[in-house]
Amino acid sequence: MKADPREVCGIKLFLGSSTGNMLVENENVVRELFRNSVIPVAVHCEDEATIRKNTEIYRKKYGEEVPVSMHPLIRSREACFKSSSHAVSLAKEYNTRLHILHLSTADEMKLLSSDRPPDRNG
Ligand SMILES: [Zn+2]
Repeated sequence: MKADPREVCGIKLFLGSSTGNMLVENENVVRELFRNSVIPVAVHCEDEATIRKNTEIYRKKYGEEVPVSMHPLIRSREACFKSSSHAVSLAKEYNTRLHILHLSTADEMKLLSSDRPPDRNG
């Protein structure tokens, strides 16, 4: 990875789609980022497969005009927890400094501890 740790504070990684086209779905690419990053990896954690599955369910029910009130059922607790669990396990596996952005469920808090990996910058 080419980012200069003196100039770049971290990488934001989208594990679920948000606004724009920045989703990283390739598991090998995600693993390489966790493995090689010397700067913190900040993740937007929503499991894309779960979001797609839920979107499909609510589109069948409501058509293209899915009520906004279904949003938390589509981008569900399960989608958050699954993605955050994956990010935490990768961070542990590769000793990556991880920052989970806009954590949205209490369950995800249980994934975190105060243990810090050694600083990779020396
Ligand atoms: Zn985000």
